[in-house]
Amino acid sequence: MQNTASHGANRGALWLPFTAHRQFRQAPRVLVSAKGMYYKDAQGQDVLDGCAGLWCVNAGHTRTPIVEAIQREAAKLDFAPTFQMAHPLAFEAAGRISALTPPGLDHIFFCNSGSEAADTALKIAIAYHRANGQAERSKIVGRERGYHGVGLGGLSVGGISSNRKQFGPLLADAAHLPHTYDPSRNAFSRGLPKHGIEYADALEKLFVTHDPSTIAAVMVEPMSGSAGVLIPPVGYLKRLREICDKHGILLIFDEVITGFGRLGASFAAEKYQVRPDIMTMAKGITNGAIPMGAVAVKDTIFTGFMQGPENAIELPHGYTYSAHPVACAAAIATLNVYRDERLFERAAALAPYFEDAAHSLRDAPHVVDIRNEGLVAGIEIAPGDGEVSRIYKVFDTAFRQGVLLRCSGNTLSIAPPLIIEKNEIDRIFETIRRILNTTS
Ligand code: PLP
Repeated sequence: MQNTASHGANRGALWLPFTAHRQFRQAPRVLVSAKGMYYKDAQGQDVLDGCAGLWCVNAGHTRTPIVEAIQREAAKLDFAPTFQMAHPLAFEAAGRISALTPPGLDHIFFCNSGSEAADTALKIAIAYHRANGQAERSKIVGRERGYHGVGLGGLSVGGISSNRKQFGPLLADAAHLPHTYDPSRNAFSRGLPKHGIEYADALEKLFVTHDPSTIAAVMVEPMSGSAGVLIPPVGYLKRLREICDKHGILLIFDEVITGFGRLGASFAAEKYQVRPDIMTMAKGITNGAIPMGAVAVKDTIFTGFMQGPENAIELPHGYTYSAHPVACAAAIATLNVYRDERLFERAAALAPYFEDAAHSLRDAPHVVDIRNEGLVAGIEIAPGDGEVSRIYKVFDTAFRQGVLLRCSGNTLSIAPPLIIEKNEIDRIFETIRRILNTTS
């Protein structure tokens, strides 16, 4: 047993995010170390990581080159301000990231999380139009079930009611597209669902209420992760792009989950060949080892800001820890690991095996839908009628049996590190089946 005494004694002090706190305190799940595909929990049990931590540890845990880069930079330059200043790794990290983003999205603004990236992207979109004489473009269009973090901007554009309901009117002036989940036509789709391109046309319907000349941007996750693995229908993202172009509306992709190989490409934009104007990222940017987020911006947007007097600050925005040296070191080392081990290609090559394994659960009890793309799968579970939700029981039991999953709503999400082996993929889905067989 490791550390249980200390976490027990201090249990009252910690308020956990997105957690049923009182339920958790009855039977905590505590992780104490990690290596490769596995965590070790406080009981000393190995836990196979089926969700890359929280969709972020794409290269597997405690990778030596990343750990060493962090150690080196912490000892060399522990902090450097980036307001009116810079440091070498900030330039290098921005260059390395812009080499991966779609051509033209070459300007990188650093922050510390996906939530900060979302709010940064929204502010850039609104301020860009203002800088270009279109101050009336201030509305943002998001999507039902969208998740863009927990800042008041991202929350306003996001579309998960349970995340919004406690926080009043929120901030951004936002309208929402319908979500694209359509199980009556698309249940058990493999990869992109065939039906639903017309959900993009709903953007034009919004223009009845919101004149397009008042809309700054449309912001969507190319594939929704947190709201339950909702895969874009064939042609949907392209159609959104076309409508945005027609009306001078910016398109923002939130690639916080879909970036860095999750779908078997650098970004969803590359995979689906749809180029947004602004792109947010976080999580896999440092393999989860140090907080970092970033926003990639199209050249014309960047140059749109570079007007007026040269000694004026063009974008009054940023964070104390924007481009933190240790985070930049972690990002560069992480991108080296992704490149040297060809992990994005590995994810693409493993995807068909992963897809078959996920869909092997089709006849398991309580399974009502399965969705997958790249190394992501969502298993939709029929809600139970017990006090504790069925899906929570599956998640908790899986953890006790040594497999970490994620549950959101009625969806079990599986998104392992890209280094996963086939026998580990089998183990994840076999564990889920075994648990479903015995869960009421
Ligand atoms: N955007 C998307 C698409 C996400 O999935 C998440 C987190 O899961 C965020 C933003 C928020 O990121 P963070 O938790 O780092 O603030």
